Amino acid sequence: MEIPSEDTKRCSKCHKIKPLNKFLPIHIRKNGKEYKSNRCRECYNKYNKAWRAKEGNRYKDIQKKRWHDRLNAMNENERLEFNKRMAQKTRASNKRLKDLVYEVYGHQCTCCGESEESFLTIDHVNNDGAEQRRKTGIKNGGTVLYRWLIKNGFPKDFQVLCWNCQWGKVKNNGICPHSVTCNDYPVMGVGSSDSKHSAPQEGDNIVCPA
Ligand SMILES: [Zn+2]
Ligand SMILES: [Zn+2]
Ligand SMILES: [Zn+2]
Repeated sequence: MEIPSEDTKRCSKCHKIKPLNKFLPIHIRKNGKEYKSNRCRECYNKYNKAWRAKEGNRYKDIQKKRWHDRLNAMNENERLEFNKRMAQKTRASNKRLKDLVYEVYGHQCTCCGESEESFLTIDHVNNDGAEQRRKTGIKNGGTVLYRWLIKNGFPKDFQVLCWNCQWGKVKNNGICPHSVTCNDYPVMGVGSSDSKHSAPQEGDNIVCPA
């Protein structure tokens, strides 16, 4: 019988010898030593799937009941304290998701360079908000969108915009008025007495004096 070397391990289920990274870590000691599960990932996943199909719902019910009992056993103060802690946890985990997304897409508006965090939002590059919602199935941005972006490997057609530029983009057929430069307002004949008060639209023939 083949003997596993130092960086391999034999799965207790399929009995194949596989590299260590094919086994899930189940416990990591303080000194950094990692304990791997006895079954390889493949066998573990198979087992997990079968277990969930068979026992998943029952287990969920048990969990739910435990949770319920725990809440019921609390007095009012404890419950307030508990809710506060849970809210903190949620906020912290939402912030981690947000930080990760902005780490990837950048910390400033792609159009005007605004970097004040509270002014920034994630924008679907080629389309308006409605199209973004169709694509992601997400009504409001925020955490749900961050999760979606992370899960989908940070698609390239999303960018950081400030609310100003995003609104400008929506109001101006998908182009922020910022990117329509070279004094085109007079060219378009937009004056205080003119009825055409909007910035140039996509497809308009903009004549740059430069
Ligand atoms: Zn196996
Ligand atoms: Zn901007
Ligand atoms: Zn802009």
